[in-house]
Amino acid sequence: MTIEPTQDNLVVGVVGAGAMGRGIAQVAATGGCTIKLYDTRLDSSKEAVEFINNMLGRAVDKGRMEAGDAKAAMTRIDVIENMSGFSDCHVVIEAATENLEIKRKIFSELESIVGDDIILASNTSSLSVTTIAASCEHPERVAGFHFFNPVPLMKLVEVIDGVRTEPRVTDFLFGLGARMGREPVRVADAPGFLVNQVGRGYTIEAAHLNSEGVADYVDVDRIMRDAAGFRMGPFELLDLTALDVTHPATRMIYEQFYHEPRYRPSTKMNTRMEANLLGRKTRQGYYVYEDGKQQVPDEQAVPEYDSRAVWVSPSNPETCEPILGLLKTLNANIDDGEEPGENSLIIVAPLGIDATTSSLEEGLDPVHTVALDTLLGLGVRRTIMKTPVTDPAFVTSARGLFTSDGTPVTVIRDSAGFVAQRILAMIVNIGCSIAQSGAATPLDIDKAVTLGLGYPHGPLAFGDFLGADRVLEILISIFEMTGDPRYRPTPWLRRRALLGESLLTPES
Ligand code: NAD
Repeated sequence: MTIEPTQDNLVVGVVGAGAMGRGIAQVAATGGCTIKLYDTRLDSSKEAVEFINNMLGRAVDKGRMEAGDAKAAMTRIDVIENMSGFSDCHVVIEAATENLEIKRKIFSELESIVGDDIILASNTSSLSVTTIAASCEHPERVAGFHFFNPVPLMKLVEVIDGVRTEPRVTDFLFGLGARMGREPVRVADAPGFLVNQVGRGYTIEAAHLNSEGVADYVDVDRIMRDAAGFRMGPFELLDLTALDVTHPATRMIYEQFYHEPRYRPSTKMNTRMEANLLGRKTRQGYYVYEDGKQQVPDEQAVPEYDSRAVWVSPSNPETCEPILGLLKTLNANIDDGEEPGENSLIIVAPLGIDATTSSLEEGLDPVHTVALDTLLGLGVRRTIMKTPVTDPAFVTSARGLFTSDGTPVTVIRDSAGFVAQRILAMIVNIGCSIAQSGAATPLDIDKAVTLGLGYPHGPLAFGDFLGADRVLEILISIFEMTGDPRYRPTPWLRRRALLGESLLTPES
């Protein structure tokens, strides 16, 4: 018997009626499927039905759904009191507690209830689909079907091929995902699948920057929101998802990748988790929350520009020209000598190297030098980096000058790659490593990340936007400076940068 995801009388079983199971049941019911919903806690299933009813009621009130369609969807949801009720299902989606033994037991029981060709899917977010399938009699009919929370609002679903999954199974789930109003993306089984792997780049690199004392969490958040265009800074995001969820998941991905340095967690995240600074839910994380409202420290007071002469390193015309253009609009006192004057503020604009190395390599005085990050332009927020010996009076001059048109400025300590360069290069490189592994197509990698994480671009398009050659230069420089293999560029990035090709270019 061939079962089609679009057929009229499709019966979908859902195991577990918690946060995810109820969302999956809702979108499957509104997609026209009949639902069999089971939870070991009958109350959980009953609450889920009430919850879905309320959600659909709200959709009707807001004019996003016809009342008749909402009612029809509700009549298609049946709560079953034991798993034998799944016997007439065409597909069963497991969304029970994240525990391998619980999931293995569920799959084993399901196999004794449903026919041999019935598709079984798991919504696991951190366990291996292949491992769950391995204890099944028919591992070839088991796949991952990874929804995002809250399901009705999050369009993405990752359709995951375990090592032994038959293509007919993931083809079917792809069609079912579309019927449920989702945007399915096909991914091979790997730790963190696709979205949760890329997401590590953002938060872990930010946590390492903070641990190294480069910038305070609030400054990292401001830079990533204002200059890089992310909806939330990495530390706000960690507070929202809660450290006791994110940190263990990060550790698990790191372990499953056999200690791949790109996914190495930050020890400071662990100590903060141990200290119960979990985020919004404990009212204190990186930020304090009063009555649910995030308390954000004020920006530093803005000094007046003291008219100190300012000299811009001409070593890179690509960065020197825009900086000089900006200085003119700011009416800066420009020092246009071949060498900087004795008391001039010196501006360098390095890519991937720190202010100290940059000033010394160019034979400039590090006491009078600050570095300016030009990678993302100079428009919305400017990042100034000082050397360990930059004279505070010169930093004040730089702050006064670069804030004089009302654009906020963030001052950070010395770091190879500033803040945004480091975090973005890490995200691009992880996207490239997934492309290199063939786990998903380049287009799907970007689609999944923009839908699942809400980033302004997918990692590969972000790399193209910044310039693959620049991202490569940043990573090589940071790698040389730190010796840390976290920053080694992937072959995917290196080849496409050398060829001058888009990072979205698939293998021929
Ligand atoms: P949850 O704790 O809200 O719900 C789990 C439900 O499973 C509970 O109602 C529990 O009673 C039920 N359950 C436990 N053992 C069962 C069994 N043997 N048979 C039937 N029901 C059983 O958890 P959740 O957040 O809905 O997560 C469910 C799954 O979805 C997990 O695998 C999780 O990793 C995954 N997931 C969660 C999220 C998220 O953000 N919450 C996102 C994506 C995937």
